[in-house]
Amino acid sequence: MKAYRAAILRFATDREPHHAALYEEDGLLVVGANALGTQVVQAVGTYREVRAQFPDVAVTHWPGRLIAPGFVDLHSHYPQTNVIGSPAEGLLPWLENYTFPEEKRFSSPGYSAEAAQFFIAELLRNGVTTALTFATAHPASVNALFAVAQKQQLRLISGLCLMDRHAPAGLLNQPSTRGRTDATEQSLLDTEALIQQWHGVDRLGYAITPRFAPTSSNAQLRGAGDLAARYPDVWIQSHVAENHEEIAWARDLFPASASYLATYADFGLLRRRAIYAHCIHLDDGDRALMRDAGAAAAVCPTSNLFLGSGFFDYAGADRVGFRYGLASDVGGGTSFSPFRTMLAAYDVGREGQTKPGLSLSPQHLWWQHTAGAAQALGLAGVVGNLQPGCEADFVVLNPQATPLLARKTALAGKLDELLFSMIVLGDDRLVEQTVISQAIQAS
Ligand SMILES: [Zn+2]
Repeated sequence: MKAYRAAILRFATDREPHHAALYEEDGLLVVGANALGTQVVQAVGTYREVRAQFPDVAVTHWPGRLIAPGFVDLHSHYPQTNVIGSPAEGLLPWLENYTFPEEKRFSSPGYSAEAAQFFIAELLRNGVTTALTFATAHPASVNALFAVAQKQQLRLISGLCLMDRHAPAGLLNQPSTRGRTDATEQSLLDTEALIQQWHGVDRLGYAITPRFAPTSSNAQLRGAGDLAARYPDVWIQSHVAENHEEIAWARDLFPASASYLATYADFGLLRRRAIYAHCIHLDDGDRALMRDAGAAAAVCPTSNLFLGSGFFDYAGADRVGFRYGLASDVGGGTSFSPFRTMLAAYDVGREGQTKPGLSLSPQHLWWQHTAGAAQALGLAGVVGNLQPGCEADFVVLNPQATPLLARKTALAGKLDELLFSMIVLGDDRLVEQTVISQAIQAS
């Protein structure tokens, strides 16, 4: 067993509001293997109380530092790492000019492996310890990412991008090399083979990944829904209701469905463990559909602001009561840093011209990127928190990382002031270490 002494932030799981934080100014976190050999939190609380229970465990002391749960990123595209910060007039020209040419390169296993290595290093440098991310339509891109994540012991969920129409040929799923199966059938065979190869192996999980309804044929969506029913513990990830052009296109292609979101439900792709990026332009009927299905939204504020897509309606989501959490959406998103994402989420919440504006509390913002995001994934009590039993993924933050942070956090009289200073002023410089089970990554 190991023990770490510092200030400690975690979330209450048994009281209202569900995002209420627990904070020890002088805390102790004790980590050790559970019955399965996984490193989990054995005990946590004030240094005085927990030390008395574990007098013999060696303690690593980080004075002036804050231990917090590793961040959970609900949506990104690892093949778009090079696309971050590319100028465009909107979503469709951005896809055509930057994203599609880059994603084509992921047919190469070597290119994919190098990109996966960089992507995962960047997640860890920014304190992200669980990620749900897109690969491309090439199986090589999935295998490369899982292989690197497995080596790093990272909790990562990904899947083969299903896309059999309405995109350049080099991006689409391909027929089998012997020509016996068409691209649609092959994409579904590949998905099932990848589920069997990777899902549940170490800390890896598989996600059935239709890019979005307009780039999949009915047959592909139907096949994806069949797999989702046969593998209920596998995740689903896709996009919905990001902007008005996309919604009009989806409505045109699937006129029989009651809404764009309902299209996914009609193909069996809306259920628990289904994470839909954006969910901006939903009505209350759609929100109830999300809630009743147990699906969750990946809110991507830096991406939505960058591409001018719109503003996630927090009041609407809470009124109807469906799950959501935060996501970087790299490369449409502009940062790997959870601090930048939390600040953008605050800005999005405040916007009051297109929807009710509200001021999200610092604890709520932080929860959305940790325990709340874990709950959206169906991984509450597993990651995103530091309560006993949770996997020991955490970050060590240095609130004095920059002169302004040091000056501002020294003035903080209460927890919300401390957290909001870090949300507004923080970036990767705040993250001194990211600790995953026994592996320690210095940043
Ligand atoms: Zn996306």
